[in-house]
Amino acid sequence: MKSLRTIALKEAQNRISPEVKSPSNKISEFFGSNVFDKKKMKDFLSKEVYEKLISTIDQGSLINQEDANQIATAMKTWAMGKGATHYTHWFQPLTGSTAEKHDSFFEPSGDGAIEKFAGSALVQQEPDASSFPNGGIRNTFEARGYTAWDPSSPAFIMESKAGKTLCIPTVFISYTGESLDYKAPLLKALAAMDKAAVDVCQYFDKSINKVTASLGIEQEYFLVDLALFNARPDLVMTGRTLFGHMSAKGQQLEDHYFGSIPERVFAYMVDFENEALKLGIPLKTRHNEVAPSQFECAPIYEEINLAIDHNQLLMDLMEKVARRHNFKVLLHEKPYAGINGSGKHNNWSLITDTGKNLLAPGKTPKNNLMFLAFFVNTIKAVHEHADLLRASITSVSNDHRLGANEAPPAIISIFLGKQLDEILEEIEHSRISKKIKEDNGLWLGIPKIPQIILDNTDRNRTSPFAFTGNKFELRAVGSTANSSAPMTVLNAIVADQLTKFKVDVDKLIKKGDKKDVALLTVIKKYIKESKAIRFEGNGYSQEWADEAATRGLSNIKTTPKALDAYVSEKSTELFTKTNIFSKRELHARHEILLESFFRKLQIEARVMGDVTNSQILPAAIAYQNILIENAKGLKDLGLSKEAIATPMAIIETLSKHIGIVKTNIDAMLEERKKTNTIEDSRDKAISYDENVKVYFDTIRYHVDKLEQIVDDSVWPLPKFRELLFLK
Ligand code: ADP
Ligand code: MG
Repeated sequence: MKSLRTIALKEAQNRISPEVKSPSNKISEFFGSNVFDKKKMKDFLSKEVYEKLISTIDQGSLINQEDANQIATAMKTWAMGKGATHYTHWFQPLTGSTAEKHDSFFEPSGDGAIEKFAGSALVQQEPDASSFPNGGIRNTFEARGYTAWDPSSPAFIMESKAGKTLCIPTVFISYTGESLDYKAPLLKALAAMDKAAVDVCQYFDKSINKVTASLGIEQEYFLVDLALFNARPDLVMTGRTLFGHMSAKGQQLEDHYFGSIPERVFAYMVDFENEALKLGIPLKTRHNEVAPSQFECAPIYEEINLAIDHNQLLMDLMEKVARRHNFKVLLHEKPYAGINGSGKHNNWSLITDTGKNLLAPGKTPKNNLMFLAFFVNTIKAVHEHADLLRASITSVSNDHRLGANEAPPAIISIFLGKQLDEILEEIEHSRISKKIKEDNGLWLGIPKIPQIILDNTDRNRTSPFAFTGNKFELRAVGSTANSSAPMTVLNAIVADQLTKFKVDVDKLIKKGDKKDVALLTVIKKYIKESKAIRFEGNGYSQEWADEAATRGLSNIKTTPKALDAYVSEKSTELFTKTNIFSKRELHARHEILLESFFRKLQIEARVMGDVTNSQILPAAIAYQNILIENAKGLKDLGLSKEAIATPMAIIETLSKHIGIVKTNIDAMLEERKKTNTIEDSRDKAISYDENVKVYFDTIRYHVDKLEQIVDDSVWPLPKFRELLFLK
């Protein structure tokens, strides 16, 4: 019988890409064609309701039932005109993926049937949601959760071969009002940011009434042939390889990075990009990444809530479209040991309704003081809440990257680049003259900030949080993550910091300081206080880990402990004060994240046991038997001891590795049994991490040794060289 691996290899070698037809050579002709955007709203709504809806989108004003009915009818008419038959509330539960429950527009009526979509169905739905993670919230109170329309993210049509569905972005909340998803807290954090940032803007420019956060998400991923993927139970079940000897050629030649994109991959990229563009996702770049078969795509930045919806949607699309091309897309942070993993850089800045980027140095000194205020407050916020930011990017899969000498370390630090680092240094040591007569008198004392900061920053890829000219880039986010988690935290901590800033500045003004003196005095104080978080050197080095320790920065390497920051007193105060999470919501979230952590390790441990016992060891033993036959045969022929030494030696080596693998698999099983009896989620997660996961490396090491010895034709799992070098 042919092995699955042999069949898969043959299939993979004979792939023909499906033909990809772009709707038009001009992207502008089909961009957003599946989105109920402002232009379509205008076409399908009365002028009055259109204006009300725009004000809801921009200012968050409420919509009444009657208007909701008109909007629902407009959406339905548009969607049905494009061939949609169903609608769904689309939301982002804490499972990490997106969820939908489809309902038909179709409704039987007295004399036949009609297509209907009422305002009430647009505004609110009750999905049967008892099986989404809720960390105990729904169990103790009310069994139901509901989804509520988020008008700030436009409805869109999801196309699939079998039909089209109108999707309405929603938040997902429990009956008692607690958030059960990623979006609800994000929207609250953005509201807090808007308020706090506008208040600070008022010192500089009275015409600013709204500040939105912007986000550009770079998405890294691996591609693997579908047949080969299916022949690897570890990839199928856990998203990463639990075994596999690194191929002779890895990424050491770095010939993949910015190399030409393989034809088959190119067809796939164009295909999913077209789908994304129709959904209004402004994809702009595509390229190879450092590791073989690793790629990246990035859209142009958008308002944060939309950018995250788009990233979630994009990940769905990438997976869907991959099927058409017989690919599997691996979004896991570390699909292959020994080569780079994948991240999701989050480029973040703040933009006013007057079109000003608050993190871009301005032309005039006044603008520079404004820039400095936002810049330094961001640094201060990250310094104050580094542990919380660390918690927001932690996960079982991201643990493989952080601190593993490839992605930014688990130590949170900020890279500013030489110019800005020196400017902060200068301000810190400057003397602020209080004798100025009017605000402008101070300007001579402020160091000049060049308007264009040389982007020498991208070369320091070792920093988890880097300033890149006109935005900060949070690089520690994992490729599978929903960016809402870190973005909720980042916006919450900066909003809170800006609020404190205003209090501090107002105090000085009250005492008689000129406004600019007060601003600069507080900025200077913050620069000093947050100095420890700034680091310009190599974040991967041991020296940095040592220095960070002396600076008092934490270096929390694993998820169960990193998550503590979510429920610390400091975080609880921050979140309750800003109305983003109640204490109960925080504890529920903490619980969900811990559970997800140990469940994933539990699955990995099981798969490791299954594959070893049922595939690896049988293959190794079968090969060993052949060698035994061989040795016996040689002996029967009357050959000397030396002549049979080679098969004997291989038999012995095989025995050694087989023995170690088996012993460790059994010991790991025992540990799992013990760990499974632990009640407390945190203790259980730690035990999985420290007592179960520790076996993974040993088992893998010896399995990988076996892989190098056992006859290639009987080895059951596709090897790294087969998975990684796509043709
Ligand atoms: P790279 O980081 O590879 O040098 P860019 O800096 O041009 O590339 O862009 C990376 C991402 O950052 C893109 O998604 C881009 O749209 C986004 N970006 C650029 N400016 C901003 C900004 N002001 N706010 C948020 N994201 C931004
Ligand atoms: Mg970048």
